[in-house]
Amino acid sequence: MDEIISLKHVNYSYFGKIPALSDINLSIKKGEMFCIIGQNGSGKSTLLHILNGLIFPDSGETLFNGTPVTEKSMRDTNFGSQFRQKIGYIFQNPDVQLFCPTVFDELLFAPLQLNLPLETARERAEQTLLFLDIGYLKERPVYLLSGGEKKKVAIASILTMNPEVLLVDEPLANLDPKTQTFFTGLLLELNRAGKTIIFTTHHLDLVDHLQPRVAVLSEEHTLRKTGTASGILNDEEFLISMNLIHEHVHKHGEEVHKHYHSHYVFHKH
Ligand code: ADP
Ligand code: MG
Repeated sequence: MDEIISLKHVNYSYFGKIPALSDINLSIKKGEMFCIIGQNGSGKSTLLHILNGLIFPDSGETLFNGTPVTEKSMRDTNFGSQFRQKIGYIFQNPDVQLFCPTVFDELLFAPLQLNLPLETARERAEQTLLFLDIGYLKERPVYLLSGGEKKKVAIASILTMNPEVLLVDEPLANLDPKTQTFFTGLLLELNRAGKTIIFTTHHLDLVDHLQPRVAVLSEEHTLRKTGTASGILNDEEFLISMNLIHEHVHKHGEEVHKHYHSHYVFHKH
């Protein structure tokens, strides 16, 4: 597989004083399913912001298809608009992303930004509604939707742009179990259709389901390890040391059990 994104010695701090990423080196291939895990505050969202060119490293560099992503290169209309079109970002909180009065307006926004004719934009929006099974939401005001519906509309509004790469921050955050299952299936389907997917998560069960390549960020904001999903998930000692699973005590009848608990992978009775 060809490399699509690479990070070389990337450092980032907020306001020059709050460290968020320290010497990150990564290479992501076209069509890959890639996941970033790490405890709260380790720098996962910051890393996605860097990958999306929302912020730029203090030092080190990001390359997209071999071209450095910098404030200057993003101002270059050719590279900048190609980059914006090829990489879609789905925020953890859909409220940050949605700003149009109705769902259909939201879905028309990106295609019209790409200067597609209105008819083509409408077709894309309709197809995306069908693909996500949310045709019934078409004329609804966005602010009245449930959290799960908003998340579907947020993804739909990115898919209408037909990006090559999807950056998804905590795809399962604040969703009910049924909607979580829907999104897990959707990520798999989009990846099978050839999209590069880079997501962050706290849910190790999602890692188990999607079997991505995994990068683990440490509390010190360094990249501690990259590996296969099974390699990472089976290393219980490592997961404990990274604060990704914790010890649980619970009762079965009269018997008290004590074991490490990732809510899925090691929880077998
Ligand atoms: P994660 O997504 O892994 O929880 P973040 O990337 O959000 O981690 O945060 C990494 C570090 O940067 C944390 O210490 C966090 O408090 C800090 N941080 C994140 N966003 C901001 C911001 N907008 N301003 C200042 N500090 C921030
Ligand atoms: Mg985060």
